[in-house]
Amino acid sequence: MGNEIVVRCHCGQMNIAMQLQGSLPHQGPVCHCDSCRHVTGALTLSSGPPLLDPPVDVLKQKLTQYATSPKITRYFCQECGSHVAYHVVAEDRWCICTGAIDKAKHGKLEAIEAITGHEYLADTKDGGLSWCFPNVPCYLEDDGQSPVEDLKAELKKSRDDEATAETPEKLRAECHCGRVKLSIDRPDNGDKWEGGICVCRSCRLSLGQAIVPWLSNVLFEKVSWPDGSTYSEGATKYAKRFNSSEGTWRDFCPECGASVSWHSDKEAGQMDIAAGILRAEEGALARRWINWRTTKIHFTEDAVDAAQVQLLQDNLHNLDAA
Ligand SMILES: [Zn+2]
Ligand SMILES: [Zn+2]
Ligand SMILES: [Zn+2]
Repeated sequence: MGNEIVVRCHCGQMNIAMQLQGSLPHQGPVCHCDSCRHVTGALTLSSGPPLLDPPVDVLKQKLTQYATSPKITRYFCQECGSHVAYHVVAEDRWCICTGAIDKAKHGKLEAIEAITGHEYLADTKDGGLSWCFPNVPCYLEDDGQSPVEDLKAELKKSRDDEATAETPEKLRAECHCGRVKLSIDRPDNGDKWEGGICVCRSCRLSLGQAIVPWLSNVLFEKVSWPDGSTYSEGATKYAKRFNSSEGTWRDFCPECGASVSWHSDKEAGQMDIAAGILRAEEGALARRWINWRTTKIHFTEDAVDAAQVQLLQDNLHNLDAA
């Protein structure tokens, strides 16, 4: 089996075979930094496998560029919002977002990545989803530093420094470029919203990531834009809407490509909001606002990387204790 893969965005205007430098599964660390979260809407960004002879012209022509820093330019589809690739400028290295790897050119795709560590956990304040992929080194910043011995204790130290005693009245959400800014109220009972993780093909292609966490079933009327309009009033003004399947809609930022929400005509008036754009002061998991569902991952039958999803499933309960 070769290392040729088919890379696609959700709408399919990008759907071509490319050659990887190495074979799959790709070995690399997962990034938890603020930029990666805010620009995709996912809580984690897999280090994508680098391309051999990247089709630079095609990538530049078909995709929209967005630089999160002078070091990294990300490429996403303007029609569907899928993050497909990123370019590490200094090294002129082109990497494919793991979720955009749809199939092998020949044969069957079985495993996409083997996680070797967790980077930039300081940004998460709460460890994010690293608890679900244990037994690899954890780094507060990049993996050039020494790994932390006790992540929980390290994070607690930094949280104590900046502790805010009072929970703000609204949960903020904002994409990387700041075009999409939301204020979210609590549910009517004053309690928390639910959160859940989806690994379906549609979510995977939309974000360019295999593991997609959502703040679930939030009522439109509980979410507002900076000009005071409700979610439904402002959505198509600030965000762009993609019809991902019949009666199903995905909103994303047209400037940075961040996924914002998922909603369906079947459950009109409510939506899921991409957890990666949340800006809760207590950390990436927004625990003062979300009860994470730790018994179920949605659409595991869709998973390409079955071993990785199994690992997630086996360790999801760690979120309860983290
Ligand atoms: Zn597309
Ligand atoms: Zn944006
Ligand atoms: Zn999904």
